[in-house]
This record gives sequence, structure tokens and C-alpha cells, in this order.
Amino acid sequence: MGLNEKTVHDILSLYQQGEATPTQVVADLYQSIEAKEQSLNAFVKLLPQDEVAQQAETAPDGPLKGIPIAIKDLISTQGVGTTAGSQILKDFVPIYDATVIQRLKAAGAVVQAKTNLDEYGMGSSNENSSFGPVRNPHNPDYVAGGSSGGSAAAVAAHEALASLGTDTGGSVRQPAAFCGVVGLKPTYGRVSRYGQIAYASSLDQIGPITKNVRDAALIMNVIAGHDPLDTTSLNVETEDYLDGLENGIEGVRIGIPAEYQQGLNDEAKACMQQWQVNFEKLGATFVEVSLPHTSYALSAYYLISCSEASANLARFDGVRYTTRVSDKSLNDMFSETRDQCFGEEVKRRIMLGTYALSSGYYDAFYKKAQQVRALITKDFNDAFEQVDLLLGPTSPTPAFKLGEKTDDPVNMYLSDVYTVSINLAGVPAISIPGGQVDGMPFGLQLIGDHLQESKILRAAHAFEQSS
Ligand code: GLN
Repeated sequence: MGLNEKTVHDILSLYQQGEATPTQVVADLYQSIEAKEQSLNAFVKLLPQDEVAQQAETAPDGPLKGIPIAIKDLISTQGVGTTAGSQILKDFVPIYDATVIQRLKAAGAVVQAKTNLDEYGMGSSNENSSFGPVRNPHNPDYVAGGSSGGSAAAVAAHEALASLGTDTGGSVRQPAAFCGVVGLKPTYGRVSRYGQIAYASSLDQIGPITKNVRDAALIMNVIAGHDPLDTTSLNVETEDYLDGLENGIEGVRIGIPAEYQQGLNDEAKACMQQWQVNFEKLGATFVEVSLPHTSYALSAYYLISCSEASANLARFDGVRYTTRVSDKSLNDMFSETRDQCFGEEVKRRIMLGTYALSSGYYDAFYKKAQQVRALITKDFNDAFEQVDLLLGPTSPTPAFKLGEKTDDPVNMYLSDVYTVSINLAGVPAISIPGGQVDGMPFGLQLIGDHLQESKILRAAHAFEQSS
């Protein structure tokens, strides 16, 4: 087994025992990259091997000392190009690090690569990247999921030990599910968004993608916490997420929402039954719950996210950031730059969002969507009065074939049906490997109440150990 196939936790122990060096770990990672990356396309940018090794060898002391990490290319890295998967930012080099990057570096981690993604995080299959799609390491004919497809594929293919993604409506959890790895979306405001290129600011949240649950806890210990530079950052003490990870889940009450059992084939249903059996063996009890407004979540999500995106993306105009197409007149420059440099999906969403926000339609669309959002949040509040955790699939299906849904955006949006409500409510959730459906990995999702990451991690860890 190459060092690249180990978890972050195991590598740290090997370092401590003097049985591995960062240079050796980096060498094994790059060997695997050499062999697989041409087919996978998980990276937009890979930093030179000797540079990463050298930085890892001389990294400051901290809980992630000498660990290389791959970063979704929607997160700003000082001096390292950050594209958002878009041609409009293809030459953009940030002059500062996002808060999460600062924290990782201070903990001894090193930026290894910038990972491929759907442009601005808009997608569920990573086919909306202007740098080409990411392929699934389990089968190259299948998508890696999106929008953090590169981050998930890189970890699953052992091209990276761990990575960061961003999750606006499922983009950490769904690609993690499709690639058979672990992805955690923290509570809204738990991890700073400062330096993350905004897609939909009221929904966006950065989270780790890792090989196991312990590594997710390890990375959360570094990136979580209050940040005065992010006005939506929660000013609440962080916990040690490794503390109590082994404590088990005796007596924990889990609910399977009735609404999260639709659109599943027989194999997926069998997986869910098996999950329940496993959790019961671990001492959990099951309670019937309902999230009655689930069927409105996708419509509300796509209205709100597109509206916020239309405002957030107004800044990419040919003036402020690198690429400029025409300088005939101010208006031509704006419109030609945006027309030629944004992809089809980004343009579709900007148009949808500006329409939903325009006077005359605002009340019927945007305001209505916000009211539905409040009802969805209430569904979760009510459910968490009865249970500690909610359980369901991360996505109704496993990874699908490349090209299978590209001509049918609405069908594509349906793959987010079990993830978007969580972002609308701002609660945390994790996706962990939950078996196979149609020969591909199938993700199990555990959802907790606000700031209950520890509880989620403990249950996920217990399940992982038992399976
Ligand atoms: N697939 C969803 C979308 O396209 C979620 C994306 C995300 O979480 N960034 O909006």
C-alpha cells in the first residue's frame, strides 16, 4: 500500500514514529497522479512536486504538520491561480489566502493542488467546468458528481490525502457519495467563507472531503471557528471534534424522514434497510419523522441560489478581474466579456436570478421562496425535537453516465433533492460510504441540528467502524 492510500491520521502517526517523511508521502501522491490524472481531470492546477515536498518538510508545527491538501478552485489561495472553473477567471491570482487556507497553513498543512469544479459551483456532475469534466475513479464513463467533483475524485483515487470542497446545495456531500468517500457540510457559519468566491452567500459553506470520518474531524478542528472577516461567521466556541468520536451511539434517536425514501430503486432501498439494521445493532433507536415541505425544497433552492448568484456574479465584468473580451464601448465590454466567458449554465442561472428578483416578479418568486425556506427550516426544528439525527440517502441514485443528464437541466437538478433542504435550513450533514447500488458507491447521509457536528461525526464513525 502506497503512503498516498493512507488516511491523514495514519500519515501523522507514521511521521511521529519516524516511519515516513513528507517527501515520501508527496512522492507517492505524485506517482498516483502521474498514472491517473490524465483520465480523471481532477485538478485545474497541480503545484510542482518538489515545491510541495519542500513546504511539507518545513511546515510549522501543528495538528496537520506535513500534510498536503487539495483545495477546490473556488477558494482563494495567495499567489496560486484560482479560476472558479471559469474562463473569466482563468488568469486570476488572488493576493490573499481565504481564512480556511490561512488556518490550514498555520496548522502545518500545504496546498498541493486546486481541484476541478462546476463553474462557480453550479452543477451536480462536474460537467459544467470550463476545464472539462471530472471522471469517476470507480468507472471513467461515470461522472464524479458536483460541484466539488475534483476534490472528491482526487481523494477517492488517492491523488490527494484529503481536500476541501464547498457545499451550497450538496456539492461536498453528493460528489463524496458518488466517489465513495466522506464529505461533511458544516452548520452555516461554522467555517469562515472569507476568501471563498461566492455562489449563493446564504447557502455556501466550506467542508472537508476525506477517506474516513476521523480525518473529517481532524480537518474540522483546524478550519472551524469564528472569523471577524466573515459577517455571517458564528461567534460560538468550537469543540474538539475528535473528542468522544469513539463514544458510540447507544440510545441515540434516529429518524428516517418519510420523504427521503422516494425515487429509490430496490438496491437503494435494500441499502437503507441495512443501514437501519447496522445502527440498531450499535444501540440507536428509530423514530418515524416527516419533513413535510421537502417537495418544495428544490424550487425554493434554485430560486434563492440563482437570485443570489445573479448579484454575486455581477462583479465579473471585464474590469475588476483579468479577462476582458472587447473594448469597443463600456456596454460592449460588459456584455461580450460575460457572454463569451461564462458557460451556458452560469448564464442560465444569472438570467433566472435576475428575473426572479425583478420588480413585478419579486413577490411571486424570490419572496415566496424565502417563505418556503422558513417552512423547511421549521420542518427540521420540529424533527429535531423528536430525534438526535436524521438518516437518508445523499442522492436518490449513484453516479450516472457522463452526458446522461446534460441536455435536461431539470433532471440534473433532481439529483440534489436530498441535499438542498439542509443548506436552506443551515444545518450540518455528512455523507459517508453506504454500500453499492448498480455497481457504484451509494452515499449515506446523516443530518444533525445546528452545531451538532460532533454528534454526526460520532454516529458516522460508529457506522464506518461497523461496516
Ligand atoms: N448542484 C447544486 C447546484 O447546482 C449544488 C451545488 C453546490 O452545492 N455548489 O446548485
